[in-house]
Amino acid sequence: MMEKPTPLVITLAPTGIVPSRDQNPHLPVTPAEIAADVEQCFSAGARVFHLHARSEDGEATCRREVFAEIVGRVKQAVPQAIVCVSTSGRRFPSYQDRSEVLDLEGELKPDLASLTPGSMNFPRETSINSPEIIGRLAAAMQERGIVPEMEIFDFGMVDYVHYLIDKGVLRPPFVFNLLLGSLGTLSASPLNLALMVERLPAGSFWSAAGIGRFQSFMNALGVAMGGHVRTGLEDNLFLDRDKLRPATNARLVERIARQAEALERPLATPEEARRTLGLPALKL
Ligand code: ZN
Repeated sequence: MMEKPTPLVITLAPTGIVPSRDQNPHLPVTPAEIAADVEQCFSAGARVFHLHARSEDGEATCRREVFAEIVGRVKQAVPQAIVCVSTSGRRFPSYQDRSEVLDLEGELKPDLASLTPGSMNFPRETSINSPEIIGRLAAAMQERGIVPEMEIFDFGMVDYVHYLIDKGVLRPPFVFNLLLGSLGTLSASPLNLALMVERLPAGSFWSAAGIGRFQSFMNALGVAMGGHVRTGLEDNLFLDRDKLRPATNARLVERIARQAEALERPLATPEEARRTLGLPALKL
């Protein structure tokens, strides 16, 4: 008899740093818009919300006050939402800026925070993550009981995570987003994803994400392989390869729900999602 399939955990990355309203009019930018998308996507089956903040002019910001408003509104709209905040250094490279959001406390404390264990190129900019900053961000997260969401764009980053585990810098639970298909990093192929999954620490939680036109394909592999998925406008703005139909976050989540149904993967309930990620149960 085959084992029962693991319930699928869908992570939504609704906004990101780079996308703009000019590129897609449905991009949620303000705290109210982000919370509204979270609510809709939670209803469609998304459980984890990977959040970036924007200032009033629409530009990326790392200010704690803005994150506080976003997380506050998200929690108000969906108390069961699993919240992940970005510590990206693409626009704000200093440790002080990147770690501000980790000081959110009480109701606003995030469950997860992003941690990119290496430096890399995006199509038009670099993402610099020095060993010092990776170590300091990881330590700050562990100290506060925030689980690092490791953003993996290449094999060497997985090797570095193993090194950090050996050094005692990282401890379980291990949560990974495997993002393939971004120009300048690992390409989106089934073999690359399979090799990467094989190299993860035992017992890791992993989600497959593809950039741009690779999104749906990588998500499908994640569903089929028994992993989990990340979707959202942060990674891809269109529903089609020809870039004629702008996506919405809800449409992207619904697309995964259909993939899951076709492959007989039930969607995780909020409690199942927390358990699968290794997060403590929620006291509401
Ligand atoms: Zn992000």
